[in-house]
This record gives sequence, structure tokens and C-alpha cells, in this order.
Amino acid sequence: MSECRLRSYDYRRLPTTSVIVAFYNEAWSTLLRTVHSVLETAPAVLLKELILVDDLSDLGHLKAPLEAYVSRLRRVRLIRTKKREGLVRARLIGATFATGEVLTFLDCHCECGAGWLEPLLERVAQDQSVIICPVIDTIDWNTFDFYMQEGEPVIGGFDWHLTFQWQAVPEHERRRWKSRTDPIRSPVMAGGLFAVSKKYFEYLGTYDTGMEVWGGENLELSFRVWQCGGTLEIHPCSHVGHVFPKRAPYARPNFRQNTVRAAEVWMDDYKEHFFNRNPLARKEKYGDVSQRKLLRRRLNCRSFEWYLSNVFPELRVPEDRPGWHGALRSLGISSECLDYKSPERDPTGAHLTLFGCHGQGGNQFFEYTLAKELRFSVQTELCVMVPKQKNHVGMQYCPKLGSPAPEEMIWHFKEDGTVYHPRSNMCLSAYRTAEGRPDVEMRTCSPGDKNQIWRFEK
Ligand code: UDP
Ligand code: MN
Repeated sequence: MSECRLRSYDYRRLPTTSVIVAFYNEAWSTLLRTVHSVLETAPAVLLKELILVDDLSDLGHLKAPLEAYVSRLRRVRLIRTKKREGLVRARLIGATFATGEVLTFLDCHCECGAGWLEPLLERVAQDQSVIICPVIDTIDWNTFDFYMQEGEPVIGGFDWHLTFQWQAVPEHERRRWKSRTDPIRSPVMAGGLFAVSKKYFEYLGTYDTGMEVWGGENLELSFRVWQCGGTLEIHPCSHVGHVFPKRAPYARPNFRQNTVRAAEVWMDDYKEHFFNRNPLARKEKYGDVSQRKLLRRRLNCRSFEWYLSNVFPELRVPEDRPGWHGALRSLGISSECLDYKSPERDPTGAHLTLFGCHGQGGNQFFEYTLAKELRFSVQTELCVMVPKQKNHVGMQYCPKLGSPAPEEMIWHFKEDGTVYHPRSNMCLSAYRTAEGRPDVEMRTCSPGDKNQIWRFEK
């Protein structure tokens, strides 16, 4: 933004930083690109050091060749962990070597935009209790083109499956700003690109060291900073590119377990909404979180309810009334469950079909609300509906929070198990397509037809 270019910084008044980059089996080119881009963009007086933490990679180029390469670079340190630590502990090991006042964490496949560091450090100098993130631009996985987020940045959010997603800046936040270069409050951070005062990060309890390999730590830190009195922001004048690879160079088996740790410690009873949508998470062994709960008490942190109403009021809280949510099983022909197909999976745009009940929530999780909607809430809130003058079943964005549902989205889920749609005067029915595949459509209600009987699975 031109406004960002016009800003100037007095380096003598900015804190110094250590940039920490943990990596596991990263390609040579992307790792070195990250290193050089930090060295070329960070003003020398502000950069104490760049700490590379090798999380016990086994690729040959990361052994002696990397050591030889970085030994020629000033201000770069290479540290190796003694066992595979996972990104949380690898980063923390890096942090123990940091001599700067501010810790700046980056991934090992980044490219820093010109002037990315100064706004982050300035913000930390202004307010010690801020975790400040750059805008994350996309580096194309195939071409390495750099796609800058144009205009207003997007911020971080999540759904009740606790999957991260980008979202637009809400109106109440925009009203708070005085200028386009003001930092933007974000309910959660995308991953691990951020700067924080070293002192404050320690006060806040750094990371949950019980988290392994990858995943969940971004939500945990985000909940924690908000609930414990700090703020999480994105600075629109700080841009860092990140490669989003098609496939990570390592397996990520601990994602669910890490997420459960975050939910158990920070979400109070609201964690039930997550568990309802992810039955495997409910059964997950997540280890000991007593130290993290103690930390929460010691720091006198606020409730998740406070977080939801003050930090993320855009997130609709499900009703999840007993017996009215879960997988919707047909008692008809195939005894399968209602299943959402994303537009990518279903180019016909029908979105809904029948599929073997898998008992894992996700695409088979629906909620019947007091307002008589059938809601599906992966990523966005979608409502099951019947388009005017059609007998097929579709999905559309649910009404905005607080607005009533249009007639197309109203369903009477009756005692006898029929799911009646008053607007069309028809019933939700299982049937077999010409090819013999089970599917759903709207049909004239016929009492006693098992294909029109539905039950929410326990
Ligand atoms: N990482 C690590 N140890 C691990 C897993 C990941 O040091 O066991 C590093 C990884 O190399 C990267 C950062 O942690 O620098 C974040 O991981 P990644 O980029 O794979 O996550 P994503 O960006 O896909 O969320
Ligand atoms: Mn990454």
C-alpha cells in the first residue's frame, strides 16, 4: 500500500530481533531462499541473528553442505536438535539461543517482502502484549510466482471442526481503525509467522511443548494470547510470502491430538461442539495437560465464552440440541448417511448425496436448529434447501446471524422421522439413481415409505 511506503522508522527506537526458522527435510532452494531473503531485507542494526533449527532432518544436503554454506554467512546460526522434536519444541530450542528482544518466527520456505520487519518491531515496541503477524502472501508451488494479497488483508478464523480458514475483516474491526495502515485484530493466526516480545512470550507460557510434529499450535497460542490479556494482530504493511506445498515433506499424524490439547485447555464446555463434529477427537489420547491448565489459572485468563463474544462474534455457536445433530441416516434402501460433497467433488452443484455412514462427523455432520434449518458448517455455514420450482436438494449459505431463514431452508423434522419441506410440500427421500447409486431428492410425501424416514445417529 502506498501509505505503507510513506512510513518511516527510527531504527534507534525499534527493538532488536532474532529470526527463528525451524525446518525438517526442507528443499535446499526454498530453505536458502528464506535465509537470503531475511538477510537482504532485515536492517542489520535490527537483526541480531537468524537461527536455523534443524529438527533432525535426514536429507543429505542439510548435513555438511548446509553447514559449509551457512558458515560463510554472517549472523546465521545453525542448531541441530538431538531428536525429532516437532515444530513447537524445535522453535523453542531456537528461542533459547536468541539474543534479540523480539522473537520473529518464520517457516523455512518464505520470502520476506521489502520493509516487512520494521512494522512488526514497531508494533511490539508500542505494545508488549501483542503478537503481530505479517500478511501472508502466496508463493506459487509450481512457478514460484509471488502473489501479493491486494487491498485489505484477510484475517484468521476457524469453524467448529477447528479447521483454520481465512475470512474477511468484520465491520466492527474496520470501524475501529483510524487509518489503512493500522494493525488488524485477528481471532487466530494462520500458522507460525509472527513476532513477539521475548519477555512476553515467556510470560505467556511460550508454546505447549506436549504438541508433536505439526498442527494445533497456532490455535492454542491464539486462544491463549487473547484469553490471557494480549492481542493478536496482522500488520497490513508487513508482507511475507509462503510456499503452500501440495504435500508436506513429512507425515502429520499428531494434528488431531494437538488440537484436542488446545480444546481441552482453552475451550471450556464449548469443546463439546468440536467433539460432536469430530468423534475421533473425543476418543483421542492427548496426554497430560495439567501444566497448561495451571498456566491458565496462574495467568488468570478469561473464558472461551469471553473470547467468542469479544474476539470472534462472527462465529455462530451451534445449538447442538441432544438428538438433533450428527449423521443423518436413511432408514431406506441403502441405510446410508447424508453426505456433503464440496463443489470440487461434485461439479453438478447438487452438493448433497448419500454415502456409507462413517461415524466420523466431518462431511456427514448436520444440525437441526430451533429455527428449523438443517445446517452444515464446515468452513462456512451452509443450509440444506430446495430451490424454487425444483425437486432436488441443494445447499446455500445460511442466513446471516440473527436473520430468519427463507422458506426454502425451512424443514419440519417430524416425530415419525420424515423430513418435510413445507415450501415445496415434499419430503426428503433416499432413492437409487439410474446407475444404481444411492442419492437424495425431494419426492411427494408417502406415509410409511422407509426411504423418507431419517434418524440422527448417536
Ligand atoms: N517443522 C519442523 N519439525 C516438524 C514439522 C515442521 O521443524 O516436525 C517446521 C517446517 O519445516 C516449517 C515449520 O515447521 O518450517 C512449519 O511447518 P510447515 O511449513 O510444514 O507447516 P504449514 O506451513 O504447511 O502449516
Ligand atoms: Mn509452511
